Amino acid sequence: MDELRALQNLAYVRYCTQVGISRNHPDLRTMPYPEFLASAYWKVLRSRLLVLRGGACESCRARAKVELHHRTYEHRGFEYWFPGDLIFLCAACHDVTHEVWRADRGSCSG
Ligand SMILES: [Zn+2]
Ligand SMILES: [Zn+2]
Repeated sequence: MDELRALQNLAYVRYCTQVGISRNHPDLRTMPYPEFLASAYWKVLRSRLLVLRGGACESCRARAKVELHHRTYEHRGFEYWFPGDLIFLCAACHDVTHEVWRADRGSCSG
C-alpha cells in the first residue's frame, strides 16, 4: 500500500495544498498544540491514517483504543508528507514510549 499517496489523495489535503497549507504552513506549525489537535487537518489525517493502518496498536497489535503519537514534531502541519512520523499506540505502549523519551504525554492526541 502506498500510504503517502493515499494521504495525498485526501480531499482535504488536496485543498490544503491548493490554498497553500503545505510545507511550512505557518498557522499549523505555530498555533497552540491543542488548537492543532482540534484542527480539521489533524482530524482528517488521523481518521484516514487509522483506516489505512487497520486501527490496531502498531507496537503490540492490540485492538484497544489507540492514540496517535508523533515520533517527531519536525514536520508538524505537513505530516502527510511524512506518515512515518506518526504511529498509533495503545495507551500502554504510548505510556512506555513517553517514559523512554521523557516527553510530555499530554502533547499527544487520543
Ligand atoms: Zn500497544
Ligand atoms: Zn505520544
